[in-house]
Amino acid sequence: MADQDSAAVAEVINPATGAKGKHYPLNSLDEALKAAERAHAAQRDWRRTSFADRAAVIGKAAELLRARADDYAGLMTEEMGKTVTDGRAEIEKCAAHCDWFAEHAERYLADQPIDVDGAGDVFVTFNPLGVVLAVMPWNFPFWQVIRFAAPALMAGNGAVLKHASNVPGCALAIEQVLRDAGLPDGVFRTLLLPSKDVAKLIESPHIAAVSLTGSVAAGKSVAAAAGGVLKKCVLELGGSDAYLILDDADAGAAAKISARARMVNGGQSCIAGKRFIVLDSVKQQFEEALVDAMRGFAIGDPTEAATKLGPMQSVAARDEVHEQVEASIAKGAKLLLGGEVPDKAGAWYPATVLTDVDAGQPAHDEEIFGPVAAIISAKDEADAIRIANDSEFGLGSGVLTGDIDRGCLIARDELDAGMSFVNENVRSDPRMPFGGVKHSGYGRECADYGIREFVNVKTVLVKPLQVSDGSRVE
Ligand code: NAP
Repeated sequence: MADQDSAAVAEVINPATGAKGKHYPLNSLDEALKAAERAHAAQRDWRRTSFADRAAVIGKAAELLRARADDYAGLMTEEMGKTVTDGRAEIEKCAAHCDWFAEHAERYLADQPIDVDGAGDVFVTFNPLGVVLAVMPWNFPFWQVIRFAAPALMAGNGAVLKHASNVPGCALAIEQVLRDAGLPDGVFRTLLLPSKDVAKLIESPHIAAVSLTGSVAAGKSVAAAAGGVLKKCVLELGGSDAYLILDDADAGAAAKISARARMVNGGQSCIAGKRFIVLDSVKQQFEEALVDAMRGFAIGDPTEAATKLGPMQSVAARDEVHEQVEASIAKGAKLLLGGEVPDKAGAWYPATVLTDVDAGQPAHDEEIFGPVAAIISAKDEADAIRIANDSEFGLGSGVLTGDIDRGCLIARDELDAGMSFVNENVRSDPRMPFGGVKHSGYGRECADYGIREFVNVKTVLVKPLQVSDGSRVE
């Protein structure tokens, strides 16, 4: 995107070609503050609607998303390079998420009675907090927003969206789909806002809370702004997910899961597997099998259905990944596959495998947000667990093993991560809580835990009034 301050427009650049696309005028801070005020007023009516009325809107949004899947997949391809096949799958996932919360929000937010001896009727109820500011990333331009918005709206909240600056068309399409589904005017509003204005928007008395999905740096900045005015925030940040390949794992099967985990969304996913920690006894077989599996992700035109790896989101992001690869090699990593920037316009980077990755190398210490798998060797299970946990992040993690009891114990008790999957790559799902620990953030999305992040968990106690003569007022 072009410099927002000087041009005051968002300019789309097609990552596959480098060609300039549409321009979108940016909103001013003043417009953003007014939108928050309008959302606040609209939310006061929205919160009084029934679950059934809200479900009709969110269910209709699911229907419209499915009907427009091809258009929205095309939009994502143009703005951030996603393959159309991944784009269609993303829209279906959004629709299923809307369906899930339309059907289950009322159950998740039902009053909960508490037995307090002789105290009267005591129960917990869940009131919406108000208008939530959502600051979202480009990598799943529809999913990241819908993941937050469907439960937040079903809980009776309003929302304003500040999306990543390279996906303005997607940001506006999400507002449109909700409006077309019947969401009352103002309850959800997209703002094309530069990130420098986010802290000021958080200070608005009409913003109750913040949800940010993005980098650690953005998380720190938003958490500091929210903390300064004592507003709740949920942070879904980066990850450097470790997968342990144990000595009893079939190397071929483990490599297939690992490659799939690494190459989610062209490697640009917070929960992509990034570090593959393999026990020495199976290292060589695993390296060969992983190279084979990664080779299957050939670069191609993202508009073609068969393409498995499109461009990255931008040339700047590609260059950063390449620098991390080169710096890792300079510090002792060995290149097994890829690692060369293709000689053509656009943000292309091939599926890449590094081995002998060790502490002090970017591939070990940092998140690589692109199609690069890092193999790290461990001498035994305890060493593998130590390496997995030796990370600033704690989002997802995996254990690949022939012994599911052994895998389950490691996943349950040993890995410092918000999600640990055995013999499967980590994924998000509306039925399972999603989130991380350490610098991967705090709070949860999805399931009952997610929908209860932006509610006031209110205790209500009701008992008859005892009048002074001892008779009861019923
Ligand atoms: P990013 O730069 O942090 O951007 C994410 C959002 O934050 C964008 O809307 C961005 O706006 C905004 N932003 C950036 N700096 C900000 C600041 N100082 N104050 C307020 N807002 C700010 O992240 P990214 O590089 O686009 O996305 C990749 C990162 O997100 C990776 O680390 C990835 O792991 C993480 N991620 C996490 C999850 C999860 O669920 N845990 C999911 C997806 C991605 P602009 O575009 O205008 O700068």
